[in-house]
Amino acid sequence: MLRSAQRTALLAASRSGALRTLAENTALLRPVVDRFVAGTTVDEVVAVARDLTADRCVTVDHLGEDTTDRARAAANVDAYRTLLRRLGDDGLAPRVEVSVKLSALGQALPGVDAEKIALDHARQVCEAAHAVGTTVTVDMEDHTTTDSTLGIVRDLRVDHPWVGAVVQAGLRRTEGDCRDLAGPGSRVRLCKGAYDEPASVAFRHRHEVDLSYVRCLRILMDGDGLPMVATHDPVLIDIARHLGRDRPHEIQMLHGVRPREQQALAAAGETVRVYLPYGTEWYGYFVRRLAERPANLAFFARSLLTR
Ligand code: FAD
Repeated sequence: MLRSAQRTALLAASRSGALRTLAENTALLRPVVDRFVAGTTVDEVVAVARDLTADRCVTVDHLGEDTTDRARAAANVDAYRTLLRRLGDDGLAPRVEVSVKLSALGQALPGVDAEKIALDHARQVCEAAHAVGTTVTVDMEDHTTTDSTLGIVRDLRVDHPWVGAVVQAGLRRTEGDCRDLAGPGSRVRLCKGAYDEPASVAFRHRHEVDLSYVRCLRILMDGDGLPMVATHDPVLIDIARHLGRDRPHEIQMLHGVRPREQQALAAAGETVRVYLPYGTEWYGYFVRRLAERPANLAFFARSLLTR
């Protein structure tokens, strides 16, 4: 993991609108971004998803977080509708589902009805997914949105009980959230958490996050839902495989990260799902991936210098 000050600086940069606009319009960065992002169009992401389904499942994310424009949030819903229709037409559902960020669907809009708009939009995405026989998982963003996001997931599950929730082991509250979410049929993705959170709500040391991850994993594996174990950490994957050996579960990893391990786990009989983002608004997602690993930053710098 990057030293904390570097990670904090990168994560702050991931929220900068000016840097985002500059980066997204710089063609120079594209080849490096391509390692993590499956193109900008539905055709491109569907081609990558189809290849992956040879041995893995997929969850596709249409990039576009932190939308502060209402028309943009509606356009993101249309993008998901188009994507889902295509997944249905190409026979890729249900092995391919979608992930959504509520801040792309209206949760970050100014004004008091932001949450209601996000819920309405998320409902439309769920209906489009249901129509083609696949599922939706609602990504988790920074801690200021956790209550709102879990509330919206609860509302969506009234009509669509298959909607997946995400919890972050880095947050102190998450063991309690796991207990609340571990009921029958509940799909729950457990990740460490990609945002820079204050010590008042989050564990700041890597070891504390890992211990929390194992405690949360035990709760989910002892429950009646479907634990979706999102990590590239080999120790945590081994623990998850041991705890989950006699019950359904998924291992989830990001596109472009440890692909050989993904294939090996699938060959060993694990259900592996790859998180596959696409779209023009890749900046925030990409910078969070850089913040996770120094080698990614070096890879990024090398690609720029050797062009
Ligand atoms: P780490 O301790 O960060 O990494 C363990 C090892 O994995 C590293 O040593 C390295 O070998 C490898 N590795 C990890 N990250 C990278 C990388 N970027 N590039 C190359 N190698 C790497 N976070 C959220 O906050 N909300 C979400 O909704 C969310 N959804 C996710 C969905 C999936 C399927 C996955 C896999 C992650 C998701 N995350 C989400 C991100 C997550 O919270 C972590 O930030 C990320 O997975 C890195 O943590 P790690 O568990 O892999 O462990």
